[in-house]
Amino acid sequence: MSAEPSIDLHTHSNCSDGSLTPAELVSRAAAADIDVLALTDHDTIAGLTDAAARADELGLRLVTGVEISAGWHAQAIHVLGLWIDPANPALRRALAAQAELRSLRMRRICARLSAVGLPGERLLAAVEANPGLPTRSHLAAALVAEGIVSRTDEAFRKYLRRGRAAHIAAEWPALATVVGWIREAGGIASLAHPARYAISAGARRQLLAEFAAAGGTAIEVVTGANAAHHVEACAQWAIKSGFTASVGSDFHHPQHAWNPLGRLAKLPPGVTPVWRSHGL
Ligand code: AMP
Ligand code: MN
Ligand code: MN
Ligand code: MN
Repeated sequence: MSAEPSIDLHTHSNCSDGSLTPAELVSRAAAADIDVLALTDHDTIAGLTDAAARADELGLRLVTGVEISAGWHAQAIHVLGLWIDPANPALRRALAAQAELRSLRMRRICARLSAVGLPGERLLAAVEANPGLPTRSHLAAALVAEGIVSRTDEAFRKYLRRGRAAHIAAEWPALATVVGWIREAGGIASLAHPARYAISAGARRQLLAEFAAAGGTAIEVVTGANAAHHVEACAQWAIKSGFTASVGSDFHHPQHAWNPLGRLAKLPPGVTPVWRSHGL
């Protein structure tokens, strides 16, 4: 491995709302010269076995990961679990419960769509035909396929986001609970895309403090869609609060050319990379 390995610690496969199989994702990462890759599907570790097998074949280092949905003051917060033990029974039970929450929520969201005159049953069937755990991304794609909206972001804007007809308030487990699962499974909890939550500066300070108090030790300082000023802000939060820094593209789809695997901005000076504790 070169002195500066290429590292991407936040990616999705079709076990959640990405479009590549875990093996295809790893192949694509290897082709993009990534040395260390974390697969971090939403609330599932179902892809890790296949991803690890392909990573072994290609000589790429796979970090066992997951992106878990948590609730914090009615806001959905995403917590990355990195270097988790996928065999940990408590984590496996917790993720089975998350999958059940996702199925229930999707049925409720589609019932709301029916109530406003849209084909909720058909949309639900389209979402459930996907191999991965149901997410709102799948539903947005189904709304596009039905010709109800022309783009997925329009689906969120018109129907799915907070304040719209089909929004269901997140009923995810508490942030501290989710961080606890990750730690018990031997993982590092990293707060995903901290600049992306639509909360005030004061609320963000409180979020970071509560995350640290719960045992979170890292935050995602470089994330695919982040502007340069977000990287700088996240770096400052990491330094101020003593978090290490993770880096990830949040890759979902090859056709999203603006958000490729790897090719991430360098960490600003002064922050400690999360992978230092893992010998990288
Ligand atoms: P869920 O976890 O089921 O609430 O789905 C969240 C996923 O939807 C995120 O991981 C994104 O991939 C996607 N998403 C959220 N908001 C938007 C948006 N405004 N436009 C497009 N995709 C979005
Ligand atoms: Mn997603
Ligand atoms: Mn996320
Ligand atoms: Mn993600």
